[in-house]
Amino acid sequence: MRSLALAAWILFAFSFLLAARWPSLARWFGGLSRQHRIHHWAGLLTGALALLHTVYEIYQDPEVAFYFEDPFLLLGWVALILLLLMLGLSFLKKIHHRNWILLHWISALAFLAALLHSWLFLHQGRWHMLFFAAGLALALLSVGLILYYRWKSQTWVVDRVEAVGSGLYEILLKPTRSNPITFPAGSLIYARLGAHFSHNWHPFSVASCAMSPEIHLLVKNAGLDTSHLMDLASGQHVKLQGPFSEFEISPRAQLWIAAGAGIAPFLGMARCFDYQKVGNVELIFFEPEPQPALEAELDRLASLHPAFRWKASYGKSADLAIIDSAVGSPEVPSSDKLSTDPERHILVCGSSAFMKLIRKRLIKNGQRASNIYTEEFTPW
Ligand SMILES: Cc1cc2nc3c(=O)[nH]c(=O)nc-3n(C[C@H](O)[C@H](O)[C@H](O)COP(=O)(O)OP(=O)(O)OC[C@H]3O[C@@H](n4cnc5c(N)ncnc54)[C@H](O)[C@@H]3O)c2cc1C
Repeated sequence: MRSLALAAWILFAFSFLLAARWPSLARWFGGLSRQHRIHHWAGLLTGALALLHTVYEIYQDPEVAFYFEDPFLLLGWVALILLLLMLGLSFLKKIHHRNWILLHWISALAFLAALLHSWLFLHQGRWHMLFFAAGLALALLSVGLILYYRWKSQTWVVDRVEAVGSGLYEILLKPTRSNPITFPAGSLIYARLGAHFSHNWHPFSVASCAMSPEIHLLVKNAGLDTSHLMDLASGQHVKLQGPFSEFEISPRAQLWIAAGAGIAPFLGMARCFDYQKVGNVELIFFEPEPQPALEAELDRLASLHPAFRWKASYGKSADLAIIDSAVGSPEVPSSDKLSTDPERHILVCGSSAFMKLIRKRLIKNGQRASNIYTEEFTPW
């Protein structure tokens, strides 16, 4: 049953690869959010396989399994405990996001302990050696990619920051070079805000069209860095990583559902209507209260582009009746041709609680899960 341990080993290395912020890899996995979700499952499965391997070894020979005087055996236990500790703390979701990122480095220690343990207990058979070497090579490559893509960035300059609603700010960035990389609407970037802010990289959706000369970010005052965005002075340098494609404009009909700052990717995509023709789009925007500046922009776009319509739902908790009327429900089928289009894609963006609620309602109303696309504003 060493094959269980080898499977855990390969999966462990693969989960490192899935942590790299490599735009081409993210595209291959269908977006960075999806890549991160697979990363979480790979981590969980690694923990489960490592646990099964240990239980099996205890069952086979309890005396040997607990012979802690053998340092290489002890390292196997250390690897397992570190891995389970990291997974447990992550899935409990009780620690702050910044500590959660730091916690991930524990997995590097667990991998190192597993490396030494596996090396000594490895069967000398050809296949075992091959899997061990493949796992090690994959892990080394992945750590190289993680570090490279943490370092690689472009510099943009703050043009201005505008308050656009309750706790919402629009940041406008200008390129520093004549042929900058373009950032498509609805894609994701990571930003490091520079002077006066921490060194953390923050994920934000691109709220502007690739054709526009500036990048717009719509950012909610949510924590340590985003609570003082007005300190971003004009001319200040900001580092950007990406873009990672998430939502895309399509010639087929789409329903967009956003809550709060989740409007950012949709605002960017709607701004593209100024430059390109698209299929029918309906937007439902859940906001705690009216936000005149944002709504004026959505009204402007709707008046210029008849294929686009939008409506708001106000209040602290989402009133789901508006979803029922947009997609129809088994009790009250919709008579609107657009609502009943089975090919219409539904794009949802907001907090994870919001996503769960909306997804559940859409499926209850008969929408196909394969037509629903989500981008969660949470690390999980
Ligand atoms: C895919 C994705 C897209 C996002 N797009 C937008 C957007 O367009 N506009 C917007 O206002 N917000 C967006 N967010 C959320 C935004 O990244 C966080 O609000 C921001 O990073 C908080 O930074 P802070 O230093 O102010 O907060 P902190 O004080 O560090 O934390 C405050 C809260 O923000 C969350 N947070 C902090 N850093 C991250 C991170 N790297 N990833 C996820 N959550 C984090 C924490 O869990 C915590 O609940 C997005 C998040 C994700 C995952």
